[in-house]
Amino acid sequence: MNYSKDFPMLDTGIIYFDNGATTLKPKSVIEAMNDYYFNYSSNAHRGDYKISIKASSEYEKVRDKVKNFINAEEKDEIVFTSGATESLNMIINGYFKNKLNTGDEVLITKSEHASNIIPWFELENEIGIKVNYIPLTSNHTVTIENVINSITDKTKVISLAHVTNVIGDLRPIKEITKYAHEKGILVVVDAAQSVGHTKVDVRNLDIDFLAFSAHKMLGPTGVGVLYGKYELLNEIKPINYGGGMNISFVSPSEIEYKELPYKLEAGTQNIAGVIGFGKAIDYINEVGIDNIEEYCINLKEYLVNKLKQLSNINMYNADIEGSTLTFNIDGVFSQDTAIYLDKYNICVRSGSHCAKKLEDELSIKNTVRISLYFYNTKEEIDKLVDALNNDKILEESLGV
Ligand code: PMP
Repeated sequence: MNYSKDFPMLDTGIIYFDNGATTLKPKSVIEAMNDYYFNYSSNAHRGDYKISIKASSEYEKVRDKVKNFINAEEKDEIVFTSGATESLNMIINGYFKNKLNTGDEVLITKSEHASNIIPWFELENEIGIKVNYIPLTSNHTVTIENVINSITDKTKVISLAHVTNVIGDLRPIKEITKYAHEKGILVVVDAAQSVGHTKVDVRNLDIDFLAFSAHKMLGPTGVGVLYGKYELLNEIKPINYGGGMNISFVSPSEIEYKELPYKLEAGTQNIAGVIGFGKAIDYINEVGIDNIEEYCINLKEYLVNKLKQLSNINMYNADIEGSTLTFNIDGVFSQDTAIYLDKYNICVRSGSHCAKKLEDELSIKNTVRISLYFYNTKEEIDKLVDALNNDKILEESLGV
């Protein structure tokens, strides 16, 4: 399938392999946002005139779409945020900060993204919780056995990426929530890398809190989702206070807030972004999430097999099923590889990818990451391999 008619950037001659950072946006997303700005630009939930009522209704329709997409029970369990980072900070600082006590333990791993580590570190600094790491296997994956062995009677939360952003492994969330809930432990899932790649069903997986970003699944930047089971979400203390989230404020002791989800959406929201996000979900539904998953798995396999034919490539997660491949060229600094590939208009990510604790596991700080999506092709991979199968890379990276 050729997607270039839908994705304007696919027609610019670039080969975009940095989908883990952000995906490209289809025309339908951009057009929906333009339509709002051109034709009914107004605030939502505030005006009594037609265009504002339309803005409110389009915004709320997307809440319903998100609810259906992740199979939440109620639309009020969906809170729009600015991204996965804000959602995780709201969960950690708005809920757990008020629930955890000194000595309580939180389990994470060393392959988490910064936004699922630093807020927990800060909570350790502030209230004396303890952040512990679930050991990873030699493939850098999480097993249920390792989770079980890491739990103590002080463990109160397990907070994990569903799919990690460097290794790309998918965690056994259903098994983890089942075991955790038997022990009274809550499970937070950072789904930034999973919602656009695999079916995420919050009820089937029995997830307590979930965070993800629109821009990693065809949507615009600046929009994210915080999902929580109603009774848990309802106990999040707002991080922001202001317009749109209150019913009345007479004095410090007489403030009344709205119900969920509005009490967690203070101030004017990213209305255009949310409307664009709705079209992103429509697009993914049309392609089919299972088709996306299968296509990316096969494409990664193709990539790995091609790179295996080159003698100087060191892959760190070749055996992991998914859409992400992390590697280095022997003796070449990852950023030099990325700059070299950019000369061929191939966009890859280099560095630590915001997962800086992973260096303890990989024994290397910087890697090159290729993260695929359904509009990438085998032809693009062939071009990448041609570019890497070139002695110039060694000369240039050493010479520059
Ligand atoms: N978690 C993971 C696993 C991620 O890959 C990212 C983005 N790289 C985030 C969280 C944060 O997402 P955002 O920057 O959109 O807030």
